Amino acid sequence: MEGKMKAIVKNNAGPGAELMDVDIPTPGPGQVLIKVKSTSICGSDLHIYKWNNWAEKNVKLPQIMGHEVAGKVIALGENVKSVKEGDFVSAETHIPCGHCYQCKTGNRHICENMKILGVHTDGVFAEYAILEEVDVWHNDPSIPAESASIQEPLGNAIDTIRAGDVTGKEILITGAGPVGLLAVGVARAFGATKIIVSEPNEYRRKIAKKMGADLTLDPINEDLLSLVIKNTDGRGVDFTAEMSGNKNAIQQGLKSVRPGGSMALLGLPDDPISIDLTQDLIFKAVNLIGITGREMFKTWYIAGRLLKENRLNLSPVITHTFPLADFEKGMKLMEEGNCGKIILKP
Ligand code: NAD
Ligand code: ZN
Repeated sequence: MEGKMKAIVKNNAGPGAELMDVDIPTPGPGQVLIKVKSTSICGSDLHIYKWNNWAEKNVKLPQIMGHEVAGKVIALGENVKSVKEGDFVSAETHIPCGHCYQCKTGNRHICENMKILGVHTDGVFAEYAILEEVDVWHNDPSIPAESASIQEPLGNAIDTIRAGDVTGKEILITGAGPVGLLAVGVARAFGATKIIVSEPNEYRRKIAKKMGADLTLDPINEDLLSLVIKNTDGRGVDFTAEMSGNKNAIQQGLKSVRPGGSMALLGLPDDPISIDLTQDLIFKAVNLIGITGREMFKTWYIAGRLLKENRLNLSPVITHTFPLADFEKGMKLMEEGNCGKIILKP
């Protein structure tokens, strides 16, 4: 398809990005072109926008930003077999090589040669975008585009909560950013019987309540550990889902786990941190699990079903919707933290 489109392009090493007219891309072999209906901002988009150390190491400029998306397929590259024009799709953002040990043993989400949509390739904050056929996820037509574009971070939440096997259990979620908030809804849908959420931001604690948290607390002004003990018959939680990356949350979240319980870590601390392995992990026989991205495509099947069957209401988490042109407002809100998921619409 010939012509120009609006896109948010990261042009320069340094803070900021620009809304520009660029050529509509042509899908190559094994790729499809979509007309973007909805996108959402992820924390990593903010890192690229602000140009932190991670962005500097990983992103080659100029590049179109964004990776969370829903849209309609409007053109196919050569050899595309599983997608047709008109399909309503979203995208997994891991682009696996398909050839390494991990890819060949059922672990494409930890591919040794992983590329990421919108990090290593042009992204989706645009009127049109290219997706790899291997990453295309077919959405049920009943799912609103805004919800469909959030399935990628929802997959992070699902992978983390799944690790805790939470049915009938008492759990703690540390960090109620967009992903932690999604995790509250997932834990509720999966049948956790008590969900305690620790989050310093009051705006986000209120959304956590709407998503189904039984108890929310402020870890800066309240004592997390004693509140957990008090609310779990003196035992500690069966499972902690760590979704903040904050050092104190990681240390206290681990101390909050009962002997024989488990903890999954999704949040990314900026620096190495210390934990008391002897007392908090080994002597308690706690199972500690690292979570990266989403298992392809187990989490997508779960996300799609939760949304199609209305087992998960995302509306409290979707706090703002802006046109693409107002992306700077979205980035500012993300930085300030008084938001859940922010939708950008071309
Ligand atoms: P976010 O930064 O928006 O949310 C983190 C939340 O933690 C914030 O609301 C913050 O107020 C809260 N917080 C800060 N200190 C806290 C404390 N002491 N106790 C409890 N909460 C505290 O991030 P997000 O987009 O919701 O993502 C959550 C985390 O997961 C981030 O660290 C992100 O980098 C990471 N992440 C990892 C993967 C992965 O593949 N492992 C994927 C996506 C996101
Ligand atoms: Zn691979």
